[in-house]
Amino acid sequence: ADDKGIKWGKAPCRYCGVGCCVLVGVKDGKIVATKGDPAGPVNKGLNCIKGYFLSKALYGKDRLTHPLIRKGNKMVKASWDEALNLIASKYKEAIAKNGPDSVAIYGSGQWTVFEGYTAVKLFKGGIGTNNVEPNARLCMASAVVGFMNTFGSDEPMGCYDDLDLGDTYILWGANMAEAHPVLFSRLIDNKLKNKKVKIIDIATRRTRTTQMADEYIPMHPQGDLAALNAIAHVILRDKLYDESFVKQHVTFKRGTENQPYGLKDKENPKEEPKPLTFDEYKQLMKQFTPEWAEKLSGIPAKKIEHLAQLYTDKSRKVNSLWTMGVNQHVRGVWVNNLIYNLHLLTGKICKPGENPLSLTGQPSACGTAREVGTFAHRLPADMVVMNEAHRKKTAEIWGVDPKKISPKVGLHTMEMYRAIDRGELKCLWIQCTNPFQSIPNLSRYRKAAQARKAFIVVSDIYPTRSTEVADVILPSASWVEKEGVFGNTERRTQHWFKMIEPPGEAKEDTWQLIELAKRLGHGNLFPYSQKNFHKEMWEEYRKFTIGTGKDLAPYETYFKVRGLRWPVKSNGQETRWRYTDADDPYVKKGEGVKFYKAPGNKATIWFRPYEPPAESPNSEYPFWYCTGRLLEHWHTATMTGRVPELKRAMPGATLEMHPEDAARLGIKNRDKVKVSSRRGSVVLTAEINGRGKPEKGNVFTTFFDETKLINDLCIDAFDPLSKEPDFKKCAVKVEKA
Ligand code: SF4
Repeated sequence: ADDKGIKWGKAPCRYCGVGCCVLVGVKDGKIVATKGDPAGPVNKGLNCIKGYFLSKALYGKDRLTHPLIRKGNKMVKASWDEALNLIASKYKEAIAKNGPDSVAIYGSGQWTVFEGYTAVKLFKGGIGTNNVEPNARLCMASAVVGFMNTFGSDEPMGCYDDLDLGDTYILWGANMAEAHPVLFSRLIDNKLKNKKVKIIDIATRRTRTTQMADEYIPMHPQGDLAALNAIAHVILRDKLYDESFVKQHVTFKRGTENQPYGLKDKENPKEEPKPLTFDEYKQLMKQFTPEWAEKLSGIPAKKIEHLAQLYTDKSRKVNSLWTMGVNQHVRGVWVNNLIYNLHLLTGKICKPGENPLSLTGQPSACGTAREVGTFAHRLPADMVVMNEAHRKKTAEIWGVDPKKISPKVGLHTMEMYRAIDRGELKCLWIQCTNPFQSIPNLSRYRKAAQARKAFIVVSDIYPTRSTEVADVILPSASWVEKEGVFGNTERRTQHWFKMIEPPGEAKEDTWQLIELAKRLGHGNLFPYSQKNFHKEMWEEYRKFTIGTGKDLAPYETYFKVRGLRWPVKSNGQETRWRYTDADDPYVKKGEGVKFYKAPGNKATIWFRPYEPPAESPNSEYPFWYCTGRLLEHWHTATMTGRVPELKRAMPGATLEMHPEDAARLGIKNRDKVKVSSRRGSVVLTAEINGRGKPEKGNVFTTFFDETKLINDLCIDAFDPLSKEPDFKKCAVKVEKA
């Protein structure tokens, strides 16, 4: 304890995928302060405004403190035994009558590794269904498929050091200043030190990121598919590619085109790749001229030539950065592929200061959703349920019969909620997320839930728009009220200890799931001792990673460090850059770059043409509608909405409009406007020339405000490969309310 009697412990921030290292001050069983850890390699002592008020997120007046069970229209206080027995009886009944695929769990990229691992083991290894999904399907699924089909392994080759060491940063639809604020300040730090640093902001809206950028390039929604292809066209046309890198490290493929965007239930298109030669690829790319791309993207042909020059300038260390603008996209996987194509053609990859870097949204979308494998098709450490050898390895580690793990891919997120509406999914347990505010085309799914078409359990720390439709509400422990591990964007695994007791009867999600497991006869899956519970679970989970290129360190190692980036070497050192003999222990000295997880050690350049969005503006719905995040609030604001300072700073959602669009409709700043799509409508306050300034014909709003179901307007079309919905593009009309 310090001289004020405060005991300080280390933890990662609870909120975003940046994964800032924080110090948590505890006195008399309460968090009394938090601060950025000056020794933290991610943030060097900084936090954003959400981070500064971290502690207050746990102390809202309406914390859930005991289980509640629905009795008619009322939620009634119950004991843990009553609640868990009821859940177990409903799950048992559904499994007996309709089979294991009639039950599911929907978790989160905010689950700790322990929580995600428990869910996967119980549902996939015990109950025998792959109906396990994280909300990361809504934010990172396109990035996952992009990594897997390009490099054969999920997650980036680069890391945050690239933000300090590079000199050219091309942002594809990413408002880093608000969505990844501390990383953005790191980039600005680099810019202040190095005059050569250039930040190019390619977007559909001017933001705080634009204010710090050297160039802002406005782009039409879906224009990224055209612009990225045209940049590659120029590189090929002018022979600006790195021939020897391409020859040594790259293979070419063409995927399946014109697949449906998942608007109909049960659509499940598959990719059937065909190999291409480099010459065939070059031939195919001839059609994508800068002039062609200008028409589709709105980016002038000259700018596309300029971007191609930047990407290929031998004196520049080029980084591409992106997040939800690329991933929440009906062709999000393709855009990920197209960005990698540029780095693979130019050889600007796997080098310090020169990499593509997909920025994660949630604190453990990487560590839990992706590494543990809480998706409907995945198992830990890049393995998948469709692969017999993967199921066998998993079963061996878990000590279960390999036949127990189903080879059938479970329901992905949108299908899970559609299956409720169809009456096929009988039981759903939601933990650590708020889908009945966040998923697109909400009305359909809220109506199904309100009609009690399924038995729904929600574990959370506060009442939310999802607890409204629950049959059982369970109070959860949060953040440092439990021990945990998160994995951030740059493959950094961070551990923290439990520092305070949760309020009332609140319990960890892990405990809740194991109690269900015991009641379903799967308690044997969790044989860990009470004394060494987390260590024993961690060491079991770690077995999946050893020798795979994703190696995690022994449990205790993480106590001493501010996280380690995997693969962790046998000497305990982390890996900053993957696939290079400069740093990755899986590449022998002298081998240079080696994509050792990809077939033939070669990464894939994909031919991915332009395809139109699922829905475009017309005379009735003339505006593009885009939803996203902002600095002050985290996702649906279930936590930040309880922090008075943040709530005051940003009390409600607004509709950002271009001044000319507003003037044409007679709308003035702060007027009430009704925004409607084919799916629903919402009344918002117009914001003209505010913090964000959408391009003409575009409107933007944020989904944090629980009083406005913003995502109800969004189309639930999704990428055929990643099944990630497109929250960034649909058609709306705007009227004075
Ligand atoms: Fe850092 Fe993100 Fe937390 Fe802000 S919200 S302090 S950027 S981890």
